Amino acid sequence: MKGRNLLMIPGPIEFTPEVMASMAQPTTSHVAPNFIECFGESLEMMRDVFLAPSAQPFILAGSGTLGMDAAMANVLQPGDGVLTVNSGYFSDRMGDIARRYGGRVTNLSADPGDIPDASEVARALEAGDFAIVTITHVDTSTGVLADVEGIAGVARDAGCLVILDSVCGTAGAECRTEDWGVDIHLTASQKAIGVPPGLALLTVSPAAMEVFESRETPVPSYYADFAEWLPIMRAYEERRPGYFGTPAVNLVAALNTSLKQILAEGMDARFARHERLAGAFRSGIRALGLDIVPASDELAAPTLTAIRYPDGVGPDLVPEIGAGGILTAGGLHPEIKQTYFRVGHMGAVNAADILATLGAIERALAAKGYEFECGSGLAAAQRALCD
Ligand code: PMP
Repeated sequence: MKGRNLLMIPGPIEFTPEVMASMAQPTTSHVAPNFIECFGESLEMMRDVFLAPSAQPFILAGSGTLGMDAAMANVLQPGDGVLTVNSGYFSDRMGDIARRYGGRVTNLSADPGDIPDASEVARALEAGDFAIVTITHVDTSTGVLADVEGIAGVARDAGCLVILDSVCGTAGAECRTEDWGVDIHLTASQKAIGVPPGLALLTVSPAAMEVFESRETPVPSYYADFAEWLPIMRAYEERRPGYFGTPAVNLVAALNTSLKQILAEGMDARFARHERLAGAFRSGIRALGLDIVPASDELAAPTLTAIRYPDGVGPDLVPEIGAGGILTAGGLHPEIKQTYFRVGHMGAVNAADILATLGAIERALAAKGYEFECGSGLAAAQRALCD
């Protein structure tokens, strides 16, 4: 027995040995020259990974929710209209945060597994008075992928700022932040960025920085205030020391390593690898007679797949798959929680992981008495991978 599990949940994911080795380096002073270089270089690399060459990057100690909170706290002013393009659990959270800061939130929702398209967003924007549109790139509760380019396009035409929660997308699902007109692109370290949990990462467009700079009311969050962090980010980029709150030194070292690995792969190659592995995984799932939660393949994320349990099988499939050495996650969307499970496939994931996961799913389905041709999912995925 190897006693080893493969972590295939939608974050945290498995990290590369090089990233883990960077985490384990002795902790240095946050104003030591080697750390200033590491932080400054990481900020510069973020622009290339986020494809946001003119944006201001921020690296903050905290989880992805801090990134959502910081985005809203800095650019929303009380009374602003906010349209949340809602695809599930995390879109709801963005609406809650906007409400907390005094936004007038309109929730444009869809059935679980679906998301409003750009034309529906355009109609909603015409019907109201909005300053901000929020998009969840990949809703981790359903595996639904948003048409960020289309939605951001109509939002920009309507004069709105676009906040993109790409916690489950960045560096896995294609996002051309600047070309597509995304103003704030936020993410967390523990998913396709490939670093253990604990960092919130944001890029902020010049237009969004202008909105922040011209706001009439103070930013209602002390820790998340860009006014406190901007001089620090500038200092590190100019290779000078700075301090507002102690940075997560070891996590930033790991981020530096991961961003280098991401850029060495190349963004186009990385997006293509995620698409290819996700496609092969879905082929395997469908060959087993199972269905996915997203309403169509176009809406299916490249970073995770939400799979409906077949008749006669329920949530105890997840621990059964776990007994086979593969860790997957149960449902999360409150309306359909008990009817599906989720498999993450992002970051350093490879073809072997996809096949190992399908193998464990097949064995667990067999153990639960589901009738199917054993090996058919594996064969379909393997055919897709050999193409
Ligand atoms: N948004 C999305 C799409 C997420 O998947 C998550 C985490 N699963 C979050 C926001 C919140 O991130 P965190 O748990 O790091 O606060």
